[in-house]
Amino acid sequence: MENEFVCWVRSQFAQNESVERGPGDDAAILRLSGQQGTVVTTDTLMDGVDFLVDQVDACRIGHKALAVSLSDLAAMAARPVAAFVSLVLPRRGGRQLAEGLYAGMAPLAERYGVAIAGGDTNSWDGPLVITITAIGQTTADGPLLRSGGQVGDAVLVTGHFGGSILNKHLDFEPRVAEALLLNSRYDLHAGMDVSDGLTLDLSRLCQESQLGTLLNLEAIPISDAAGELARQQPNSKTPLDHALGDGEDFELIVTLPASEAKRLLADQPLGIPVTRIGTLVAEQGLWALNADGKRKPIAADGYQHEIDP
Ligand SMILES: [Mg+2]
Repeated sequence: MENEFVCWVRSQFAQNESVERGPGDDAAILRLSGQQGTVVTTDTLMDGVDFLVDQVDACRIGHKALAVSLSDLAAMAARPVAAFVSLVLPRRGGRQLAEGLYAGMAPLAERYGVAIAGGDTNSWDGPLVITITAIGQTTADGPLLRSGGQVGDAVLVTGHFGGSILNKHLDFEPRVAEALLLNSRYDLHAGMDVSDGLTLDLSRLCQESQLGTLLNLEAIPISDAAGELARQQPNSKTPLDHALGDGEDFELIVTLPASEAKRLLADQPLGIPVTRIGTLVAEQGLWALNADGKRKPIAADGYQHEIDP
């Protein structure tokens, strides 16, 4: 099936000026402009962990797989260039599944000018596995790193958090345009995307910046889905718990000087809300203020893949 399948994939996607040679040779050739950094990220998604093939339309799975990688380019404030798609398909119904996956990627690839410049297709008697490697370029504004945070920076987030399992984890829009716009207009110090959970990912930014965050828990933007999930599972987690610890929101965290944050919050330039949720402090870890004004530690909560020793 492979020759004909590669032809079909080639017919579905436009290449762009950065792709000197796309699918059809043993490897792709990219011609990237020399001025900027090349940003490379790879993600693997698996049936049963990241989606359920027998319950979800293949288009949504394809969209998610590409969106996850584009979100990591957004996290670095990089402009997407190309993506490489490797599929391990279940033998039964594999071709139809593959076509659905690519159909889900196509609109997203077109929106962000991403060429599907190559990949690999295998099949086996196991579940669907998708690996996407995305290539981007930093802009004149430079990359956004986790390590750039400074004491006193305001910590801002895009969008709302929690309950993504109800839908958003499949249908989210990667914050590519938002990251590029924020990086060009404001003096951002640090940033990342939230894939595993707001507090877990924020703790990673803090770790790289060797700082902590004093959170304002009342300011956390909680999604309606977090409330819905809390209602569905009473006596377990509150909507705030979901917002702080659920994975796959794919929003952005950025830190910047308080004066810049004030300007950004007044502008609200994105069409989706940007909210200040805290301040970077010298004491490492995550903190919130008690009613008596004392700091209490907040646990970093989120999704982590378990690996047995
Ligand atoms: Mg990330």
